[in-house]
Amino acid sequence: MPRCDWDAIILGAGPAGLALAARLAPRRVLLLERQLEPAQGLRIGESLPGAASLLLQRLGLFEEFQSGNHLERGATIAIWDSKEPVWRDSLRDPAGPGWVIDRRQFEQMLLNAANHRGANIRYGCQNFQVSRAAEDWSVEIEGDSTQHVAPVIVDASGRSASLARRLGVNHTKQDSQVCLHSFLIAPAHDEDTTTRILADQDGWWYSVRLASGYRVLAYHLDAKHPERLDLQNPEAFLDCARHHPLLAEVLGQTKAAEVHTRPAGTAMLDIPSLDKAGPGFLAVGDAAITFDPISSQGLFHALASAEAAAKAINAGCWQAPPAMQTFKQELTAVSAHYLAKLRLTYQGPQRFAQASFWAERRG
Ligand SMILES: Cc1cc2nc3c(=O)[nH]c(=O)nc-3n(C[C@H](O)[C@H](O)[C@H](O)COP(=O)(O)OP(=O)(O)OC[C@H]3O[C@@H](n4cnc5c(N)ncnc54)[C@H](O)[C@@H]3O)c2cc1C
Repeated sequence: MPRCDWDAIILGAGPAGLALAARLAPRRVLLLERQLEPAQGLRIGESLPGAASLLLQRLGLFEEFQSGNHLERGATIAIWDSKEPVWRDSLRDPAGPGWVIDRRQFEQMLLNAANHRGANIRYGCQNFQVSRAAEDWSVEIEGDSTQHVAPVIVDASGRSASLARRLGVNHTKQDSQVCLHSFLIAPAHDEDTTTRILADQDGWWYSVRLASGYRVLAYHLDAKHPERLDLQNPEAFLDCARHHPLLAEVLGQTKAAEVHTRPAGTAMLDIPSLDKAGPGFLAVGDAAITFDPISSQGLFHALASAEAAAKAINAGCWQAPPAMQTFKQELTAVSAHYLAKLRLTYQGPQRFAQASFWAERRG
C-alpha cells in the first residue's frame, strides 16, 4: 500500500478543525470531514465575544473578519435573576461588544485560510480506520488505497468526540438539554439590535436578529420535556414564544418557520486521560469541551483550543510530555472555570428553583 506522510491528521472540518489546520501552516496537514461538502444552510451559533479578536489577529484573519457580514453586538436584555428585564451593554468590557456573526461566512473564511495555507481537506470521508503504526498514527480511508501516516492525530469532530471515544477516552454528556430553534424572516422594519434572553419555568429562550435578514428564535429545554414534540410545530413554537412580552415585542407578526432541534448541553472528555488514546492524540473545540449555549463560548473555545493544540504540536507533543501537559492543563483550567460559572448561572432564576429543568442544573 502506498504511504503518505503528514505532520498532523485532523478529523472534522468545523471551526476548531479548520482553525487548527490554518494555524499549523506550513506543516503538512490532512483534514478529513464526513460531510460531502462545506455546510451551506443557516446554522445556529452566532454570538462571538469581543475577546475573540485577539485570537483572530493571531490567526491572521481579523482584517478579513472585520470586512465580513457580521453585526456588532448590541445590548443584552435579560429576564433571568429577576422578573424584571435587566439591560447590559458592553461599555465596560475592555474586549468590546463582540459580534453577531454570519456563521456560514465565518466558517468559509476559516476554510479558505486552511486551503490557501496548504491543508489537504477531504470531504465525504465517512469511513476510515485509525490505528497505531510503530511510533505513528495510521489512517486508511475507504475508497483510497493510500496509508496516511502522522505522529499527531486530532479529534475535531464536535460534540460526538467520535475519535476520542473510539480510542478509549472517557466522554461524559453532562446535560440532556436540547435547543429548538427557527430562523424567522425578520420584517424590514425590525432593526432591533438587542439579544433577548429569558428564563421560564421549563428552560430559557433567546432571540437576536442576524445581518442576513433572519431572526433566530431559540428555546432550550430538557430533551424529556413532555411538550417538546408539540413545540416542533412551527406555529406552536412561535405562539409559545409570544406569551413572553420580551419576545413578543420583537416577533410582531413574523411568520412561523421550520423548527430545528439540536442537542445543546454540556459534554466533555476526561481531559487528564487524553493520553489513554496514545501519544500525539489531541482534541479541540466541542470534541474536548462542549459548552452550554448560555455561555456563548463555543466558537471562542474552538479558536483558543486550536491555538493551544498548534502550540503543543509545534513543540513536538507526541514525544515531549511537558508540551502535552501544558495543553491538558489549559483545557482543565477552562473546564473548571466554565463549570463553576455555569452552576451560578443556573442558580440565578430562584423563582423556578423547584421546577425540574432548573433543579437539575443548579448543582
Ligand atoms: C443551540 C446552539 C447554540 C450555540 N450558540 C453559540 C453561540 O452563540 N456562540 C458560540 O460561540 N457558540 C455557540 N454554539 C456552539 C458552537 O456552535 C460550537 O462550539 C462550535 O460549532 C464548535 O466547533 P467544532 O469545530 O468544535 O465542532 P462542530 O462545529 O460540531 O464541527 C465538527 C465537524 O466534524 C465533523 N465530524 C463529526 N464526526 C466526524 C467523523 N466521524 N469524521 C469526520 N468528520 C466528522 C462534522 O461534520 C463537523 O463538520 C452553539 C451551539 C448550539 C448547539
